[in-house]
Amino acid sequence: MIATSLIDIGINLAHDSFNADREEVIARALAAGVVQMIVTGSSGASNRQAIEMARTHPGVLFATTGVHPHYAKELTDELLEELRQLAPVQQVVAVGECGLDYFRDLSPRAVQQKAFHRQLELAAQVRKPVFLHQRDAHDDFVSILREHRSSLVGGVAHCFTGNHHELAAYQDMDLYVGITGWICDERRGAHLVPLMKEIEADRLLIETDGPYLLPRDLPSKPESRRNEPAYLPHIAATIARARGESPEHFAATSTAAARKLFALPELH
Ligand SMILES: [Zn+2]
Repeated sequence: MIATSLIDIGINLAHDSFNADREEVIARALAAGVVQMIVTGSSGASNRQAIEMARTHPGVLFATTGVHPHYAKELTDELLEELRQLAPVQQVVAVGECGLDYFRDLSPRAVQQKAFHRQLELAAQVRKPVFLHQRDAHDDFVSILREHRSSLVGGVAHCFTGNHHELAAYQDMDLYVGITGWICDERRGAHLVPLMKEIEADRLLIETDGPYLLPRDLPSKPESRRNEPAYLPHIAATIARARGESPEHFAATSTAAARKLFALPELH
């Protein structure tokens, strides 16, 4: 008997590391109480894969479609046109991931900024929320987002790893915040623990961001070091503890918040 229902709002299920056992990964997630998952699209190919997965797992898997800042230089007019075709598809619940990543700078910054603007415009046109990625680019990210905020229906700052001031800037724009297993890392995620009480319950979402960010304090870690949605309850329990809430209470509010932002159906 599963006491809680969780939603993984960010799982890179199109990643190669899931090719051999994708169905088993989904089955393990469901068995662990992760009832719905949003498959992150981050490139032309992964967008198409994410939609295909959502089509074959209706009501359970959903997709985002966008171009990650790493791949911003691949956002040609043709790919933008494809995004425009895909965004209204029923299985697509958000535009993204999109944003800025100055940590790795895999695309030139000016190119990243342009791709970000174009995807924010698209999200506004199709009236879908945005799935946002930001790393080491807070000031530019906030200033671009502010330009578009009033025309956007909503958005989530996925994989939030920032400080109090960054959080306050996102809250000022009424963004949802996505927390990953980063918070389970006592070396680099400890600063997130006290911030958990600062986030309103109806704005706090959870995600594994698998196959990345395997929670560091999992009781037994897979040899592959691959993260997957079945580990989401571990992350949720860590956040619930930081908020001084029961896991059941936190699961209920977080799941309701995810359903609201992404307009996900309830399961019966
Ligand atoms: Zn990301």
